[in-house]
Amino acid sequence: MVHKDPEGYISDSSSSIDDDNDYGDWRSDDDNAATTLALFADSSTSRPSFASPLEALAHAKSQGCDLAALVARLELDTLQVIRLINHIRRNNLTPEQVNAITRDSGVLLDDAELKPVPGFEDDGLLQVDFDLLALPTSSDAAGSSEKSRIAELESQLATARAAFEELRTLHATTLGLTPSDLTDSSTSQLTAHQRSSLATSAARTKRGANDAEDDILYFDSYSTNGIHQTMITDSARTLSYAQFLLHPSNSHLIRGKVVMDVGCGTGILSLFAARAGAKQVIAIDASAIVERARENVEANGFGHVVKVHRGKLEDFTSELEAWEGKVDVLVSEWMGYFLLYENMLPSVLLARDRYLNPETGVLAPNRMTMHLAAFSSSKLINDKLRFWDDVHGFNMTSMTTGLLDEAFVDVLDKDDVVSDSYVFADLDLPRLPVKQPEPESSFELTISADGSVHGFISWFDTFFFPSARVPTDASTECPKFSLEDKDVVGLDLKKNATTATGDDEGKGELVSFSTSPYSKETHWQQTLFVLKEPITGVQKGDKIKGRIVVLQDQKHSRQLEVELHYLHVPASTERPEGKKKVETQLVQVFMVR
Ligand code: SAH
Repeated sequence: MVHKDPEGYISDSSSSIDDDNDYGDWRSDDDNAATTLALFADSSTSRPSFASPLEALAHAKSQGCDLAALVARLELDTLQVIRLINHIRRNNLTPEQVNAITRDSGVLLDDAELKPVPGFEDDGLLQVDFDLLALPTSSDAAGSSEKSRIAELESQLATARAAFEELRTLHATTLGLTPSDLTDSSTSQLTAHQRSSLATSAARTKRGANDAEDDILYFDSYSTNGIHQTMITDSARTLSYAQFLLHPSNSHLIRGKVVMDVGCGTGILSLFAARAGAKQVIAIDASAIVERARENVEANGFGHVVKVHRGKLEDFTSELEAWEGKVDVLVSEWMGYFLLYENMLPSVLLARDRYLNPETGVLAPNRMTMHLAAFSSSKLINDKLRFWDDVHGFNMTSMTTGLLDEAFVDVLDKDDVVSDSYVFADLDLPRLPVKQPEPESSFELTISADGSVHGFISWFDTFFFPSARVPTDASTECPKFSLEDKDVVGLDLKKNATTATGDDEGKGELVSFSTSPYSKETHWQQTLFVLKEPITGVQKGDKIKGRIVVLQDQKHSRQLEVELHYLHVPASTERPEGKKKVETQLVQVFMVR
């Protein structure tokens, strides 16, 4: 079991995890809470300090500025509140000046105001949850005094502070820092969410893309036999492409037509297209494997149909100029882990714009959906983390350092999924701009089983619509994959025999496959984002609300960064002791590499 103390995580190798354990206990250092300096000077022009930020707010109110009311009236979000408070502190505003601030005041949008004000790095006012202040309380109803209102809010603030301290430590670990690093850093005033976003963007600006180096390693990784056999024997993958290309209902798309295969590898998809009667197949690959594709094409007597070109798609000019705008079907198997890892999609989209017939050309596949759900798996936690607690009697927990900063690619049992799933990206390939998509979406998951959430699971579904455009009303449902070799017309043919024309020609066959735990296992498996702290005590019907942000890594262009912001919203917000539960949005950043 992993404990967290103010210095970060330390391990206790003696215990193991069970469903309702979290990975650590946190200690709040509420006792060390600093005093809060008044927001405004009082009549004597001195500025008193208060033990609690709520008293500081009451003082501000007595000076003519009710900050909580202002925040509620202007409907400010957390970042805007931070900008506002910093702006007041930095410029020594008077209550009148603050009251004159409106929703469209520039300061509320100015990120320069997120910078801590020297001397106010730990400003108690920045830790106040103004949403909480806006909640009606029993004492309001009774019309009680300001003092008892303060007392009630005090207890809520203590809870909020504890949560804040937890976040500070938790987030420091996320960023590979100690909690004191965060206090000293320029982002010390921010909530975990804001720190993360700033840390991410700061890191991104420091990096420089090195595409040439990435390319060498990338194409080299496709040069060996093993990876191609893995892909070809992934039957959900390969039979889906075969079904789309060879299905009699789709032969009007392929027979006598020009097909381009972007990233042909061994040439398998080009050979399917040739077997389906394509007039010409243009096969392209930048990896040395392309020489095998050339031989495979010749060995099967399709040399007159499939023309193999070695090189990076982006670099072809005159050699392929004749095909610009003339290709009828552009087929490519470009999908990586978590769909977007590898960053190959932009190459396919470039080929689309350059070579595909702009009116009638069909992209295969042409629509992808990306899904997110919550999972609970003590087995996974034991396999990945607890394993290192005791390796033949040795404590090797150092091996878990940084482990949860990366997503795992692994297979999850469908019974470990403990929520419904949310489609956070729906990619309409014929319409996408030529760049790596960077999906960003809020999500809401409904929990389906009591216990703990250990993390989030993601998978993608792939659709081959037999048309140039994806129907706008297309469902996101993707049936469980069930094809076998015998179901695909033409898979029993040999060498350069081609399929016969069928009665169904022109009808069009939609093909799809899913990489979810509910469908046949694929070599993509699933992508697992394990949380450093599980969400404990979740109950059926509770919600996990959050936001997912996927960003291309700026240093290694084929890698990704995924930010997951999440908040547990119990179906019942009442705690047993009758107090409102204070929930704080947490965030964890993962690399997909
Ligand atoms: N089509 C094959 C291989 C798919 S793997 C099959 O289905 O089995 C993807 C292939 O695309 C790899 O061989 C890789 O070298 C190639 N590739 C990726 N990006 C490319 C680019 N920009 N130009 C040319 N080839 C590329």
